[in-house]
Amino acid sequence: MNFHVLTLFPEMIMDGCSTSILGRAMEKGILSVEAINIRDYTTNKHFKVDDYPYGGGAGMVMQAPPVYDAYQALADRLGKRPRVLYMTPQGKVFNQKIAEELAKEEDLVFLCGHYEGIDERVLEMIVTDSLSVGDYVLTGGELPAMMMIDCISRLIPGVLNNDVSAEVESFHDNLLEYPQYTRPEVFMGKRVPDVLLSGHHANIEAWRREQSIRRTLERRPDLLKNAVLTDKEREFLDSLRTSCEVCREAEGENREG
Ligand code: SAM
Repeated sequence: MNFHVLTLFPEMIMDGCSTSILGRAMEKGILSVEAINIRDYTTNKHFKVDDYPYGGGAGMVMQAPPVYDAYQALADRLGKRPRVLYMTPQGKVFNQKIAEELAKEEDLVFLCGHYEGIDERVLEMIVTDSLSVGDYVLTGGELPAMMMIDCISRLIPGVLNNDVSAEVESFHDNLLEYPQYTRPEVFMGKRVPDVLLSGHHANIEAWRREQSIRRTLERRPDLLKNAVLTDKEREFLDSLRTSCEVCREAEGENREG
């Protein structure tokens, strides 16, 4: 997988992506990240990339020509029109399912805006997907791009030491992950649940599955409508709904919005 980031702050992208798991995956050649400086594609002597908005109003707008030229140079180099993801609070909110779909691509381009955003005309010409990280406004698209790159990278075979871990994690099945424990066995009087020390794999599996369902009901009941559950698990969920007051409250709050 090759990530190409069109940005005014390339050092932010390279610093953010070259440490820890992503950095090791880059060293191993499993993925590559390149930050393309949109400012390199300006033709004016001050390398200016923004200007006042037509019609007036606050702030500055990134101009179309350098963004288009940076994109076109990349498309020429790749020999195709790659998928271009525009980071914008107006986009579809990014989630694990979108990450799984994007992880199948060979090249992904992230377009990061700044100031009041980018001239609409170039967006209409090059953007294939508009994605947001949530209903709040940041100063630039770099952090959203890094978040998405991090999330997508974990799904690429070989990036994590243990590929199974991405498959059993929160959101994969529309369930949150079960609680995790490690040594010491007793911490400030709190013991690790006995079942995890039993060595009985089927019981551990069943306990974890129940914990996932309980946790999802308590914390993110909205996910449950798309969770794939067996008949027995549905019965367990129904029994939780009747017996667990916290769960009922969480579902009520979720319905109210
Ligand atoms: N004026 C724009 C609007 O109201 O939609 C917001 C511009 S924002 C200050 C500057 C840039 O930050 C955007 O072009 C976008 O690239 C990025 N950005 C801000 N919030 C974001 C979010 N929630 N998700 C993704 N990108 C975001």
